[in-house]
Amino acid sequence: MNLRQFFREDLADLKPYHVDQPPHRVKLDANESPFNLPAEIRQEITEAMSQLKFQRYPDAGSTLLRTQLSEQLEVDKEQIVVGNGSDELIGNFMLAFGQSDGCVSFPTPTFSMYQILAQIARLKAVGRPLNERFDLNAEEWDFHLNTNAINLVFISYPNNPTGNNFSAEIIRQMLSRSDTLVILDEAYYEFSEQTFLKERGRYPNLIITRTFSKAYGLAGLRVGYLIAHPEIIHEINKVRLPYNVNRFSQIAATTLLRCQNRFSPQIQLILSERERLFKALKATRGLHPFPTDANFILFRTDSPAKQVFQSLLAHGVLVRDLDRPGPLKNCLRVTVGTPMENNLFLEGLGSRR
Ligand code: PMP
Repeated sequence: MNLRQFFREDLADLKPYHVDQPPHRVKLDANESPFNLPAEIRQEITEAMSQLKFQRYPDAGSTLLRTQLSEQLEVDKEQIVVGNGSDELIGNFMLAFGQSDGCVSFPTPTFSMYQILAQIARLKAVGRPLNERFDLNAEEWDFHLNTNAINLVFISYPNNPTGNNFSAEIIRQMLSRSDTLVILDEAYYEFSEQTFLKERGRYPNLIITRTFSKAYGLAGLRVGYLIAHPEIIHEINKVRLPYNVNRFSQIAATTLLRCQNRFSPQIQLILSERERLFKALKATRGLHPFPTDANFILFRTDSPAKQVFQSLLAHGVLVRDLDRPGPLKNCLRVTVGTPMENNLFLEGLGSRR
């Protein structure tokens, strides 16, 4: 039997998402938090876990978590949906709003899942190159959006992997269009502290996604959320799988939100380490870091990036190799780690010559 006859032709070039994890001592490749949850929060989660009814399905609407988020963010509960990571919500959004005469657009380079999820949802996807400062080009975007009847625009804010926030005015121009929904992915908001959350009232076509995976160190449990107009939330809920967020993750995220101030010192440390790393990279001959608003730094190497990647790995430090023809030629991305991890990274760079 020829199984290939059943395969979707439009997925022929799609490779299963692969995360290469060669042996290493220090993991600075995935923009995670370098800190495990504070011990007392882990203790509280463990105690709650011991009372858990494992045989029962979780709350299908993540009600308690949404209530807490609603209080903290001062956003109505009906404007929030929780997902198994923000990835899932981006996928749900594509399924709910992708139309045959619509277009999914995003700047390039950016987070790869926008393209992948659009392809899976059978949507036309177009990447528009960023300018030489890695910012949006207002006229070009205007022209591009004019060519489509319906636009779904994905903006990573700050942008992964370049690290910068785009010009807010250009994003507002997109939001002013009546033919466009703008999904502002604020996965790294806690490090940039720049958000469009307060502009929701003015723009019903604004959708914001955030995650517990980065600043809150919960990547292992997969929790993200999306904030939008209640009618948009209603449409997303139509395609969202029932019980998409498991009980354990709901408990962990609600526990963590109750002690949110415990995370401020960690975030502050990451920000000061980011500054230190940036200066050290800038001061190193042959390395060119790009300004960043996130918990990672993109940098270009004069020598072949793949060699620098390998010599860092030989030193036990895993970073993300983004080197490919185009704007990311000879580029690597490093996540800001603990002071000790960052020292190892800098040592590894020093040992490359
Ligand atoms: N958006 C961006 C811009 C990201 O970089 C990431 C993680 N790499 C995500 C979303 C996904 O986050 P989550 O763990 O919530 O699925």
